[in-house]
Amino acid sequence: MATQETVEHKYVYDFAEGNKELKDLLGGKGANLAEMTNLGLPVPPGFTITTEACQAYLTTGREPDGLAGQIEAHLESLEREMGRRLGDPGDPLLVSVRSGAKFSMPGMMETVLNVGLNDRSVIGLSTQAGGNDRFAWDSYRRLIQMFGKTVCEVPGEEFEHALDEAKHAKGTRNDLDLDADDLRGLVDAYKKIFAKHTGREFPQEPREQLDLAIRAVFDSWNAERAILYRRQERIPADLGTAVNVVSMVFGNLGPDSGTGVAFTRDPGSGAQGIYGDYLANAQGEDVVAGIRNTVPLQELEQLDKRSYDELLGIMARLEEHYKDLCDIEFTIERGKLWMLQTRVGKRTAAAAFVIAGQLVDEGLIDLDEALHRVNGAQLAQLMFPRFQLDHDVPPVAKGIGASPGAASGKVVFTSARAVELAAEGESVILVRRETNPDDLNGMIAAKGILTSRGGKTSHAAVVARGMGKTCVSGADELEVNVPAKKFTVGGHTVGEGDVVSIDGTTGKVYLGEVPVMPSEVVQYFEGSLDPEHIDNPLVRAVHRIMTHADAARRLRVRTNADTGADAARARRFGAEGIGLCRTEHMFLGDRRELVERLILAAGAQEREDALAALLPLQRADFVEIFREMDGLPVTVRLIDPPLHEFLPPLEQLAVNVAVAQERGEDVAKEEALLSAVRRMHEENPMLGLRGVRLGLVIPGLFAMQVRAIAEAAVAVTRDGGTACPEIMVPLVGAVQELETVRAEAEKIIAEVVGDSGVEVLIGTMIEVPRAALTAGQIAEAAEFFSFGTNDLTQMAWGFSRDDVEGAFFWRYLELGIFGISPFESIDADGVGRLVRIAAEEGRAARPGLKLGVCGEHGGDPDSVHFFHEVGLDYVSCSPFRVPVARLEAGRAAISTTGSDSR
Ligand code: ADP
Ligand code: MG
Ligand code: MG
Repeated sequence: MATQETVEHKYVYDFAEGNKELKDLLGGKGANLAEMTNLGLPVPPGFTITTEACQAYLTTGREPDGLAGQIEAHLESLEREMGRRLGDPGDPLLVSVRSGAKFSMPGMMETVLNVGLNDRSVIGLSTQAGGNDRFAWDSYRRLIQMFGKTVCEVPGEEFEHALDEAKHAKGTRNDLDLDADDLRGLVDAYKKIFAKHTGREFPQEPREQLDLAIRAVFDSWNAERAILYRRQERIPADLGTAVNVVSMVFGNLGPDSGTGVAFTRDPGSGAQGIYGDYLANAQGEDVVAGIRNTVPLQELEQLDKRSYDELLGIMARLEEHYKDLCDIEFTIERGKLWMLQTRVGKRTAAAAFVIAGQLVDEGLIDLDEALHRVNGAQLAQLMFPRFQLDHDVPPVAKGIGASPGAASGKVVFTSARAVELAAEGESVILVRRETNPDDLNGMIAAKGILTSRGGKTSHAAVVARGMGKTCVSGADELEVNVPAKKFTVGGHTVGEGDVVSIDGTTGKVYLGEVPVMPSEVVQYFEGSLDPEHIDNPLVRAVHRIMTHADAARRLRVRTNADTGADAARARRFGAEGIGLCRTEHMFLGDRRELVERLILAAGAQEREDALAALLPLQRADFVEIFREMDGLPVTVRLIDPPLHEFLPPLEQLAVNVAVAQERGEDVAKEEALLSAVRRMHEENPMLGLRGVRLGLVIPGLFAMQVRAIAEAAVAVTRDGGTACPEIMVPLVGAVQELETVRAEAEKIIAEVVGDSGVEVLIGTMIEVPRAALTAGQIAEAAEFFSFGTNDLTQMAWGFSRDDVEGAFFWRYLELGIFGISPFESIDADGVGRLVRIAAEEGRAARPGLKLGVCGEHGGDPDSVHFFHEVGLDYVSCSPFRVPVARLEAGRAAISTTGSDSR
């Protein structure tokens, strides 16, 4: 046997042979059982069948060669170690068969306990337990139930139903009141259910039970819910699961036995202490199944002080060993403690920061590691306002937290009504079974969106996230009746106009208005909380980790800001300049009049007059922004959108003209506007007369903007400030476009700047694929590149963003064409490749070329890592995302391996 094992592939590992680094091969559960075994902790002996065996089984449809023999050998040695044999009628060895993949997939896959029991060994088990018949029959009925359900697909409810009936007949609701006879009767009932559904008797042969259970665990990898879960969590489909065969220990032997779960710190807040639940006289799955009420773990101290103390000792040891919050499962068998599982525990965003900070204080990890353990998505979560729920308001329903935030408002059921009420200044929550593209206007008007169907990739969820709007999806307790304009939930009926509150982070839904409170983390960033003198542990941890991230990062972080107020706020959030100052808002409001004059100008003189009137207004805008960003670079983008966006819509003008004519009023101006709008109409405005094309076609337009920028910079500098303007030309696709604009701009700058000492850079956006592909040429005329990844994504994919996200992205996500919208996170393979090419060729042509990125991707965690890796100088994002980008830039700089923060 031994010689044979050395030549064939090894599919089975004893717990003593593994360790926590072998998660790929042994799965998380198996690797950690091995680790605990090797730490000398009390783990029931057992072995792990590898994920490779599962992969082989799933691809070929049969167990790989050698597996059966290896299982046999490990089982024999387990039997020797335990002094019991599987199926021995007098003193049977029982085992559990437990799934366990690399990443935990809670509730997705299967476990069978008490494998090895049959009609004869159930008697032996009772004898060995000192004549405890009740325990033996309880264990047997559990086996038939779990085996039937998970291995043979017998509907679980039938077993539950039979159990309820037995309790009912006894006049009790507590399963502990069932005695040995009741449970024996239940075993008979269970066997009948089993036979009815499978057409065969419950298998009495223990080895057959074991083999079928192992196979069922393999198969559970491809159960539909497991597939869906993996898709949602982006877990690769080909990993497979390991199978752990563990000798049973019994928490259902009597009041001195029991089972529990625990965390080494509070996974909600991160606070130190003991958090867990314990259930006496029960087997593992009872704790989570909520069969009886558990007691807080602290009460175990009264019930069994020795085990309690030992458990606390082990928990401390595990934390020290894993250097992190651990969660554990344990069982006490007649006063003897057994460890059944541990893993680094999941936690909330707040707990992640607090725990990382504590572990640094405790000397268990360093600041690099602390930074590695938190992420930008968690920080972003902490920056949303939260509901203030001091008096423990219970939610009426819980769905999926699809898009974070906290929103309260009046319920509406149609998009049209949402728009109406919002126009009256009301906050509304749009409630639907599920949304579709027709709901877009309503979604825009609403404060939040609540649906009773659909998951994280449903239409509602995808669109809401794109808009940054709070959304709870899949709250399936809601019975939504759109025609009747109401929904019911838990005995309540909620009609149009009633107020509800939804939490897009937790997925919870509340009746009535829940007060919203600002985030302490935002208050800290805004400078109103002093981190050194505050005892809020979260703020202290955030401060500490952010400080470290700032010291570690290479990427600079700028902001997108168009006004002095935005600039000031972003600066408080840590922005190191403006990466994108759009100038189009400077053409709105009461300046529309001037823009209309510009567009309608009959000749050069009229046009020049209009531009001359705009000049001082623009200059004042820039002065304000340069002052706020004193000493820091400000990238100003010359006007980008098609000019007809500044004119009223065609329909409205047509109506105005008709009405005015009817009344016999003078319609000359309206008619002129109307014909201009008709003339300027474009089929694809996104690809039409915009960006640099405007500058080349409309004489004096860019010149006016360049002059305003240069004059503002000179004015600020003369006042003792330091303005560092960078003029950015949008939508360039060919170097000649840029050269033309540049030649004119340089003349104006030289004339305005004179000897003031002001320096003005001229660069371009890289947002048209052709620009990326000819970056070497373009760099000859540009002092900097800024990647406009929104447009670059639109044009690389041929997606019109405003149309596609609502129309069909849900389908693309469902099909896995992309795992996340390419507008949310940069498509590294395609769009990212263009960025890489442009960066390399640009820098080759002009060493020292400044490279940055503006657009949503600048604040997206994964994208920030990508931009770091490509070697850009900075990212620019909306003010609110600045802290997220700082944190992720720090994480990117310290990450040595591909981060695995799942
Ligand atoms: P899950 O991954 O769903 O938690 P587990 O494999 O951990 O499934 O098992 C389900 C329950 O059964 C857990 O409470 C576990 O502690 C318990 N359990 C598993 N194996 C044994 C065993 N050998 N002896 C006693 N209880 C066990
Ligand atoms: Mg478990
Ligand atoms: Mg653009």
